[in-house]
Amino acid sequence: MRRARARRAAVTRNKAYTAVNHEITIEARHYIEQYRDVARFAALCRECGNYERRWCCPPLDVALEARLRAYTRATLMACVITPDCVEQPLAGAMALMRPEIERLNRRVLELERERDGLAMGFAGSCYYCGNEPCTREHGLPCRHPERVRPSLEAYGFDLERTCRELLGIEMAWSHDPRRLPPRLTLLCAVFYH
Ligand code: SF4
Repeated sequence: MRRARARRAAVTRNKAYTAVNHEITIEARHYIEQYRDVARFAALCRECGNYERRWCCPPLDVALEARLRAYTRATLMACVITPDCVEQPLAGAMALMRPEIERLNRRVLELERERDGLAMGFAGSCYYCGNEPCTREHGLPCRHPERVRPSLEAYGFDLERTCRELLGIEMAWSHDPRRLPPRLTLLCAVFYH
């Protein structure tokens, strides 16, 4: 694989957190072959309450798998968010991360459009429908297919290894399940030619 270095890009500061962005472009085949463990992550996803209940979660359309393998390049984008106050309640995670999630979502969708690629978004809740239940629960199409993309985990990618080995980021975990960890990491990607 041709060696590439992760770029540490813009730093954003606001009243609630500091966000540092990282980006790298690598060969798609290398990333797919070396950083995926489909069986392991499929088993973990099956234990999650969102499995088969969100369009961004597994199981995914098998046609997407074949499409993924046809791409030659992958641009990985991460954002590390460090909250200003330590040990905040976990319930506030989405509100805290949302500006950065929206910014990254816009960026991956833009790149997907420009390069005729395939974007991958974030794990967790989909916020586009507000308090409405996801239509997948009723077997209906997604209300916002132009904006929703499956997460990297849904494709079986190992986010922790991706962050550590390719982007130089150590993900942080909380010792208390009710509290936020000292920093939060968002990771998304675009595959293209
Ligand atoms: S936009 Fe709505 S329908 Fe589509 S995945 Fe998100 S919650 Fe489900």
